[in-house]
Amino acid sequence: MVLDILDLELARLLAKYVREWNGRGWSPATSTNYSFRNDAAHIAVSKSGVDKSQFSENDFLLLDLASEKLRPEYLEEQPDIRTSAETELHTALYKVNPNIGAVVHTHSVYDTILSDAFFRSGRSELVLCDYELLKAIDGYQTHEASLSIPIFGNTQNITNLAAEFRRAYEQQPDMKGYLIAGHGFYTWGKNIAEAKRHLEAFQFLLECQYKAILIRKLI
Ligand SMILES: [Zn+2]
Repeated sequence: MVLDILDLELARLLAKYVREWNGRGWSPATSTNYSFRNDAAHIAVSKSGVDKSQFSENDFLLLDLASEKLRPEYLEEQPDIRTSAETELHTALYKVNPNIGAVVHTHSVYDTILSDAFFRSGRSELVLCDYELLKAIDGYQTHEASLSIPIFGNTQNITNLAAEFRRAYEQQPDMKGYLIAGHGFYTWGKNIAEAKRHLEAFQFLLECQYKAILIRKLI
């Protein structure tokens, strides 16, 4: 069911990108989740369990942001319908920053390996330095910069993870993304276009970081 208040243009745009990112290997099986701010009261969040190569605008469900509950129309039609299990991580972002317009979450190989290796070695952040592509991230004007990506431990308790994110965001309000160890990556933007730019830049930078660590061992 597609509610008539769903912004179909935004839903179609983000769904198209979700399929493209699946083609790049960033959302194996039915993993990952995506959302956008539909209007002042609602966010649209991806439905649970959808193969992302088939993802369409019909796979976004509207959630009341204040109560974090699905619009009742869905439940009347299909009582067991669910948004992604990680929906609370999306609502936490929209609530801490009213300028966020879209949130994207990937499970790429580099998200997974780097976050796991860093976290296991006791580090709670991954710092990207001196890369030209840092300039693709909002607020970065030069490559002569460093950008800290916090790494949280993985857990199935999403409420605790959302609380951990909120504490970290208070300390680091210019945060542009975070990793979950052995799991994946979250980033966002003021709109879908900016979230896309951030995601694509970060995926490139995480791959660079991984390969830089390997090459430094060789030269
Ligand atoms: Zn995930």
